[in-house]
Amino acid sequence: MAIEVRERTQIPKQFTWNAESVFASPQDWETEFKALGAELEGLGQYHGKLAEGPSTLLAALELLQQLLARAWKLVIYAMFSYSVDTRQQEGAQRQGRAEGIFAQASAAGAFVNPELLSIGEPKLREWVRGDPRLMLYDHYLTDLFRKQQHVRSTEVEELLGRVMDPFLAVFTTISALVDSDFQFQPARSANGREIPVTQGSLDTILRDPDREARRTAWESYADTYLKYKNTLASNLAASTRQNVYLMRARRHESSLEMALFKDNIPESVFHNLIETFRRHVGTWHRYWKVRRAVLGVEQLQPYDVWAPLTDRPPTVSYQQAVDWVCEGLAPLGDEYVERMRRGCLEERWVDVYPNLGKRQGAFSHGSPGTYPFVVMSFADDVSGLSTLAHELGHSMHSYLAWKHQPVIYSEYSHFAAEVASNFHQAMVRAYLLQNNGDVQLQISIIEDAMDNFHRYFLIMPTLARFELETHQRVERGEGFNADGLIELMADLFAEPFGAEMQLDRLRVGITWAQFLHLYQDYYVYQYATGISGAHSLAARILAGETGAAEAYLEFLKAGASVYPLDALRAAGVDLSSPEPVEQTFKVLDDLVDRLAKLTGVAEAVAAA
Ligand SMILES: [Zn+2]
Repeated sequence: MAIEVRERTQIPKQFTWNAESVFASPQDWETEFKALGAELEGLGQYHGKLAEGPSTLLAALELLQQLLARAWKLVIYAMFSYSVDTRQQEGAQRQGRAEGIFAQASAAGAFVNPELLSIGEPKLREWVRGDPRLMLYDHYLTDLFRKQQHVRSTEVEELLGRVMDPFLAVFTTISALVDSDFQFQPARSANGREIPVTQGSLDTILRDPDREARRTAWESYADTYLKYKNTLASNLAASTRQNVYLMRARRHESSLEMALFKDNIPESVFHNLIETFRRHVGTWHRYWKVRRAVLGVEQLQPYDVWAPLTDRPPTVSYQQAVDWVCEGLAPLGDEYVERMRRGCLEERWVDVYPNLGKRQGAFSHGSPGTYPFVVMSFADDVSGLSTLAHELGHSMHSYLAWKHQPVIYSEYSHFAAEVASNFHQAMVRAYLLQNNGDVQLQISIIEDAMDNFHRYFLIMPTLARFELETHQRVERGEGFNADGLIELMADLFAEPFGAEMQLDRLRVGITWAQFLHLYQDYYVYQYATGISGAHSLAARILAGETGAAEAYLEFLKAGASVYPLDALRAAGVDLSSPEPVEQTFKVLDDLVDRLAKLTGVAEAVAAA
């Protein structure tokens, strides 16, 4: 639904993020910026002194966290002010300065870990046992010494540190190429009207009922990537080789092992996801059948994946969306729900509507000492409801982690994060499908769910398989070229596509170039484990299992004080086993059945 994009000044204040709760004015930000800059030097008094004893160590850790939290707050204010209005020059400058002072704060505390390592684990353990105030840092120390096995000598570490900056070039190159240099041929509507294709407009065109517009936009987009396939492949190969180089320098067994080592995730979690996904691609084939029947097309094409399934999508106001999210999360208890409702309707956690100059997409962010803010572009529809639910899942995770953990554990992993956000969506969806009889709303909710699953539970595991294969090729000393990558990607998509979806091998095969996620090695699989963990935990709570809601809240409160896999296990889901992935495919199966019934194609699909 197209809604008119207004000037920021036209948006009522109640729908804008609460900047004043962070700093009363930009002048106050300036004052704090200067004050913090001067106070960072205070950390210097502990440099070389940590070995003196537990009290000194404790004082240093407490001061470091205080200063980091203050720097972080400066970053949040600058980052949000800039995100909601990127046209303000002043905002861009403030953002740069905030990042600078955060780096300065981190650098000021850089002596802490090496000093801890040189004190040694036995002595630190003794200190922790002797001083209950240090107990809090037990996990921090465990993690520090665990990671120590891959830390090299000072000289090697210095060189590895310095190589990171030139290594960043692969990312700046790909961003410059696809975001600035690429020019896409315009798409054409069925009546011959030209529609400009840009990185920002593609998604909207792919959701257009006009099939010709979708086809021409999708082809134009893929063809531009294909035109530069050699450059794109060379750049991705460089990134993969860099990663394998770092893996060898740090003496890891494989690049997969290295990537998962950070959060202490065993490789079995990754392989288990992929294997279970492959066993269940039949669910996707069934969905394509239903989708083809609803759209009434002869052959389903990749550009039909996002085509709307109803011509009467319901309108959902922001107030309604907040109410539904709150109702869906009611099983977590009044305290949780009321906190969230107050955040959305009174404390202005959410910057709700689009405005000119506002950053696209949605995200949740904040820091200990601020509200867990959300930036989004709510468009009065089911997709907005779903995004709001997702981002509030992140926000409540942050809120509870910050409330119950020290700054040092406040940044939970991406692996855990995507469980909390998808959990919210799973709960709200289940609630509405159960309690709201509006057929159009039900179709829209399932449509949105399938869109989400398509990204998290089809594209992401497929990209994960792709990066495993490309990394292994480099690890074996083999090279790769553009055509080889296109072949590989097309083969991988052929499985979930099945016979139901036309496989345009070149245009589907270039998908690897369209996800810059692949420049963050082995990042994408966590979307699929996240959605699996979320549905597994939601199922326990929806089934009314005793203690399930409390266990889930404990997972949120734990923040980064426990390894993500352990925290999730305590909450009731074991992501190293196939069950959560299996269970999520069951949810998907059920959605496909419901969709077939709601759209009246169930019999036709069963007979085909
Ligand atoms: Zn998310």
